[in-house]
Amino acid sequence: MKTKGLPILLGIPFDAQSSYLRGAGDAPPKIREALACDASNSWSELGVDLGQAGVYGDAGDLTFTEKNEFAAIEAKVGELIEQGKRPVSLGGDHSITFPIVKAVARRYPELTIFHFDAHPDLYEDFEGNRLSHACPFARIIEAGLAKRLVQVGIRTLNRHQREQAEKLGVDVVEMRGLPAYGKLKAAGPVYITFDMDVLDPAFAPGISHREPGGMSVREAIAHLHAIEGEIVGADLVEYNPVQDVAGVTATVAAKILKEILGKMIAG
Ligand code: MN
Ligand code: MN
Repeated sequence: MKTKGLPILLGIPFDAQSSYLRGAGDAPPKIREALACDASNSWSELGVDLGQAGVYGDAGDLTFTEKNEFAAIEAKVGELIEQGKRPVSLGGDHSITFPIVKAVARRYPELTIFHFDAHPDLYEDFEGNRLSHACPFARIIEAGLAKRLVQVGIRTLNRHQREQAEKLGVDVVEMRGLPAYGKLKAAGPVYITFDMDVLDPAFAPGISHREPGGMSVREAIAHLHAIEGEIVGADLVEYNPVQDVAGVTATVAAKILKEILGKMIAG
């Protein structure tokens, strides 16, 4: 299905809700730089040339002028959607997905979310903080912002988060249960949220929470390509340049971004 609406990048340099390490806020320019790097060409594997003028846009990086960053994120994403565009946000830590999805769900109330992550991010609160990057999907489901949430690549479930997943009706596909191509089909609008730590740290060391036993880059791409539905927005979060080794993870983030954009454009 070919979805209308220009995919548009939006950098969200925000990492104040990280629980362990800061640094993800520095990611957006590094991902753009890797995307533009001449070491690779501009074609996605699905046959879309991202170097062609007008196939996607770039709204630049969000600048925060007020204290309430979540409100600013929600407002900016909402504005892009109102313009008929499909926002592809570059984090930033994963907390940003809550205000982003608030804006997306206003336009698309029957949203299915496909969530790639080592972590379910379903804490009721994390060390007393309900807006931590460990909590966004608890907030999203409680607020009724998604019809369906499918998580893939999870490998850090503790008792609390298992209970949360059950209580909130989340479809968790653990890493040990992959592949899960059949789970990635939706009849209505789809939002993709991709936490870089779903990848094995051997492939992507530049993240705040290294969790071994994760996806290869190829497994991640295969799952992205398997998605069926009308993709109305996406985000790529938790790349942390401070933790990176020789820019390897920036290159991987750019590759994942290329495949997400290619998928959105090719349908
Ligand atoms: Mn996450
Ligand atoms: Mn994670």
